[in-house]
Amino acid sequence: MEQYSFLFDLDATITKVEILPTIAQVIGKQDEMRELTERTMKGEVPFAESFMKRVEILGVIPVSRVSEIVRDIPVHEELCAWIREHKDRCYVVTGNLDIWIGALMERLGIEKDHVFCSHAEVENDKIAGLTEICDKGKVLEDFPHPFVAVGDGDNDAGMVGAADIGIGFGAVRDVAYSVLNNADYAIYTENKLCRLLKEIASKTCAEGQAEAACCDKAEGFGAPGSKTIVISCAGMGTRLGIGTTKALIDVDGKPLIIRQLELLKDFEDVRIVVGYQAERVISLVNEYRRDVLYVFNHNYKGTGTGASFKLGCRYAGELVVALDGDLLVHPDDLRAVLTSDKELVGGCTPSTDNPVLIHAEEDSEGRKMIVYFSRESGEYEWTGLAQIRRDRLPEGTGHVYQLLEPLIPLEMIEIRTKEIDTMADYEHAVNWIRNGYHD
Ligand SMILES: [Mg+2]
Repeated sequence: MEQYSFLFDLDATITKVEILPTIAQVIGKQDEMRELTERTMKGEVPFAESFMKRVEILGVIPVSRVSEIVRDIPVHEELCAWIREHKDRCYVVTGNLDIWIGALMERLGIEKDHVFCSHAEVENDKIAGLTEICDKGKVLEDFPHPFVAVGDGDNDAGMVGAADIGIGFGAVRDVAYSVLNNADYAIYTENKLCRLLKEIASKTCAEGQAEAACCDKAEGFGAPGSKTIVISCAGMGTRLGIGTTKALIDVDGKPLIIRQLELLKDFEDVRIVVGYQAERVISLVNEYRRDVLYVFNHNYKGTGTGASFKLGCRYAGELVVALDGDLLVHPDDLRAVLTSDKELVGGCTPSTDNPVLIHAEEDSEGRKMIVYFSRESGEYEWTGLAQIRRDRLPEGTGHVYQLLEPLIPLEMIEIRTKEIDTMADYEHAVNWIRNGYHD
């Protein structure tokens, strides 16, 4: 298997504070600098123009002093430890200046030839002129694939988009919209980022290299007995006619997605597949819980929930749970699935129009075993809830039940749910919750 390289933005990705505003504190210009940095990271000011302006402001400070300040800047320690451990295949890609960040790169153990950055000439400890401004998109035009790119600001959008696996990392500040638009994942805590990197690295060890020698697999997501919850929230929910993705709708005082997350609070690896209105889903969920792994299905219009589920299952645990963002499940029934270590499919009494039906037959142990899914006949309705061994899932971009068809016979358990497709469904769901999950 081919080995991935890992490319990291420096400012607010590796560092825990923004570098240029920190330097600007020395001359009392941090507010001016922060504002300019903020506007640049959002893409309101072109990077090169803004960078020249910022260098001009900071140019009055001796280069040796700036270098010291930058060397001692707080960094994400767990991430930096991981980078050091994998330094042969890690690179830093930054618009910042070689003469300013050199000492920091040394402190982090990153070799010069693994740093892409801007360059300047120095005379008498002051900047004499910029000789090259690093254009991250250009630098990476010839960079060998496959690679993973991690960044947060508008000038990272190109490298995140060009990467085989692009990650928006928002531990320090919100990830730029242009990055989210190009990313495969968005992550907001350092620990979650490190776990995903470990999992990717462990899946892509060099040919012939033992996995254990290459990375510590136990700290990724795929440890024995591990479980990943994948909530599909990518779709538009057009039938409801309210103009928002269904996960955001308020059900008796709380957004539907928050109701689901409350039931999942004991689970560490929760992923939400986002597409339509991704930014709104992310900012709402981040207020409740920051350690969710967001997975993008940018092609949500052309694919079904099965495609979203498969994307969520990459680099996941041994058991994966599929849950639709528009499904309310009785808490006791959801718990019954989540605390089980068996493969299970949730069925309910048919209640929606145009349901996918399940025909199940009891086996000798009294378990309901699924014989087929069908649009025509069956005693139960498919709910979208299933728990499956990840390594058994086939490829596919249709619906989740179509991914499950080749795995039949599968055990079905009856669960109580409310799916919200129409306004009438919505009203039923609200009443159901108000009545303590009774009709
Ligand atoms: Mg940055």
